[in-house]
Amino acid sequence: MMEFLNKLLAIDFNYILIAFIVLFYSMEQLMSNQFKFNKRPQHLLHNILFQVVFYISNIFYAAVTVFSVEWLNKHQVGLFYLVQIPVWIKLIAGVALFDMVTYWFHRTAHKIPLLWRFHRVHHSDTTMDSSTFFRGHPIESLFWFGTSNIVASAIFGLDLTTMGLYFLVSAPLIFMEHSNLKFPKWVDKYLGLIFTTPNLHKIHHDEDQYYTDSNFSDIFILWDRLFGTYKHKPVEEIKFGLKEFETEKKQTFWYLMISPFINMGRVTSEDLKKGK
Ligand SMILES: [Zn+2]
Ligand SMILES: [Zn+2]
Repeated sequence: MMEFLNKLLAIDFNYILIAFIVLFYSMEQLMSNQFKFNKRPQHLLHNILFQVVFYISNIFYAAVTVFSVEWLNKHQVGLFYLVQIPVWIKLIAGVALFDMVTYWFHRTAHKIPLLWRFHRVHHSDTTMDSSTFFRGHPIESLFWFGTSNIVASAIFGLDLTTMGLYFLVSAPLIFMEHSNLKFPKWVDKYLGLIFTTPNLHKIHHDEDQYYTDSNFSDIFILWDRLFGTYKHKPVEEIKFGLKEFETEKKQTFWYLMISPFINMGRVTSEDLKKGK
């Protein structure tokens, strides 16, 4: 099993991402959609520009992360180096722990105003499909979410193989969570007890802050259930985006790139109720 995993991880991750892009973009064209799009080509164009930025910043991010995790592993930093446990348990627990640390980084990004300025770019999308995967500010990916995996590795002693497996598992799930595809009810009913299903993540993209500040997990919704941030809302009632970014001008790549440097108050649930 380890041999197969190592072979899989030897594939350049960029190729794996491209394969997922082709797969999900095609499925969204061919299968039944959850939501109707008004201006699909424009939406895709702006998110593809984010995709280009993502790829460029990823070269730097991947190099720093791999270098740091390799250094930590070489010096045996972290809890897993203090105990003897089977490799497969280390792998499964490791993936869950990477996910847990990302959960806390994500939750903090909603809590601290400076971090929210960058993170709100991901939440700005008023119509969602799998291309929303890439809608994120590069400064946030590099300096905030970029550090989460290094921190997880330093605390728990997680190695590069586990990190590779974590990317391999989380990438298709995150694509799926944003995709404009209809899923059968059993997906939420059963898988939703443990995993973050597409509908559960979509609640996180609701414009009402009460729901935006919930369901932070990428893989295991268990973290939200455990740390008290799990919420539910029927998917048909979700309104995507943020009130602050509703106009068409604010949905462009250019505006979104400079938006962290523009002062705008966060619209709270109360503001929304009052119709502000
Ligand atoms: Zn968020
Ligand atoms: Zn999202």
